Amino acid sequence: MTHTQDSAPLKPCPMCGSGPAKGFGRYTNASFSGVEVMDQTNMPYVWCGTCCLQTCTYDSIEEAITAWNTRATLRTDEGDEV
Ligand SMILES: [Zn+2]
Repeated sequence: MTHTQDSAPLKPCPMCGSGPAKGFGRYTNASFSGVEVMDQTNMPYVWCGTCCLQTCTYDSIEEAITAWNTRATLRTDEGDEV
């Protein structure tokens, strides 16, 4: 098994600044503290357990992480996320 453990590190939450939660990339019961990947439904997404910001659901964890990291680079205080 060559399961990549940390191919795409999660960026801190753009809303509250929380870093990745423990258990990143694995099945976790929502820890409600920090950014983590949720993939219990075959529709993985990334969410911040601290402020509940989350991405859409994706077909793969990597896509969800990419979406999160892309969003995390955007300034949400400008109102546009084009
Ligand atoms: Zn947050």
